[in-house]
Amino acid sequence: MRMPLTSRRSMEGGLYFGQAPWNPDRLTAGAMARAQPSGAAVPGMLSLNNLLNQMSAGGLTATSLWTPPLDRQLSRCAGRVMRAIVLNCIPETPESNLPLALATLDMPNLLAGLALLKHAVPHRTTIIVSDRGDRQLYRQLKAVRRKQNVRLTPLVNRYPLTQPTVLLHSLFGCRLPVDALPTEVGVLLADPVACWALGRFVRFGLPVTHRPVQVFRLHALPALGLAEIGVPLAAFLSECNAPCEGQQCIVNGMLTGRKVDPKVAGVTLDTQSIALRPAPVEEISYPCIRCGWCVDHCPTGLNPAWLFAQAPRNTAESRAQASHCVSCGLCSYVCPSRLPLTAAIVRLRASGHEV
Ligand code: SF4
Ligand code: SF4
Repeated sequence: MRMPLTSRRSMEGGLYFGQAPWNPDRLTAGAMARAQPSGAAVPGMLSLNNLLNQMSAGGLTATSLWTPPLDRQLSRCAGRVMRAIVLNCIPETPESNLPLALATLDMPNLLAGLALLKHAVPHRTTIIVSDRGDRQLYRQLKAVRRKQNVRLTPLVNRYPLTQPTVLLHSLFGCRLPVDALPTEVGVLLADPVACWALGRFVRFGLPVTHRPVQVFRLHALPALGLAEIGVPLAAFLSECNAPCEGQQCIVNGMLTGRKVDPKVAGVTLDTQSIALRPAPVEEISYPCIRCGWCVDHCPTGLNPAWLFAQAPRNTAESRAQASHCVSCGLCSYVCPSRLPLTAAIVRLRASGHEV
């Protein structure tokens, strides 16, 4: 059986997906760019310690599905020179186009956040990664790269490229140990929303009370709204003219997300997207036909069919293998027998943490 992460080739699974089209007219709730309020405190550039203090006071933690929280990463940067600060501008889920939306609507705050990180953390180079297929975003980033003194690296976006293990392997050819932060291999990895929130703080002294959230519905164009942290999803959806009654509500992507009750669940700092659809007919699973599609598409070179079969036995070997799963959901997505591979493997991986 294939061992995980044995070669660069083992990271070449994944699927190509097109991103949702986006233009600024689809801003439906809240204002992304705000004029500087008169007399507002402008914190200016901060040292690493001050930045960490401000982030913990402002509640800026996990803003992304996969990129580890900036405060956790920054606390490991003290006294070190990072090989790179990487701003990941590739959408994390196939349906998302948040980086393009943020760059289009509020590039100054996005760049101010990146500048603050560059000021606080000694580093050798700064890289902005973008989707090679997204010409619109590439043009916008190209226009600012010289002024910002950053390298622009377009990559072929094969989901789940933005998962840190996969991204760092694609960028630097290095292997991120299981459950390690990118700083362990000398990289500070930032996501656009964290940079944007930092930029608003550094320019206008605005605390993190809102975040951009995308809304997807069947037969409707995707929308983007500025959602207040803590408000029920149903309230935000109604602000976006997206009624959720009788709809299934999935937060953070159709491949990796979770089903929630929009009247109970609230917007959190890491709520990237909300998808609404009629509840689908329950799928029936059939026995594995050994087609190997799950193996072909696993980005970390695992054998999901084998892990699924091993899950009830919960052996040390299967737990060790499952620890390399990045929860991308591709194995379940491609399985023609509709086996719940990802759920079983994620449970197996979690049981390894409990041992
Ligand atoms: S969810 Fe499936 S395809 Fe994705 S890393 Fe885990 S085992 Fe591989
Ligand atoms: S994709 Fe499904 S049917 Fe095919 S080998 Fe994997 S588990 Fe079996």
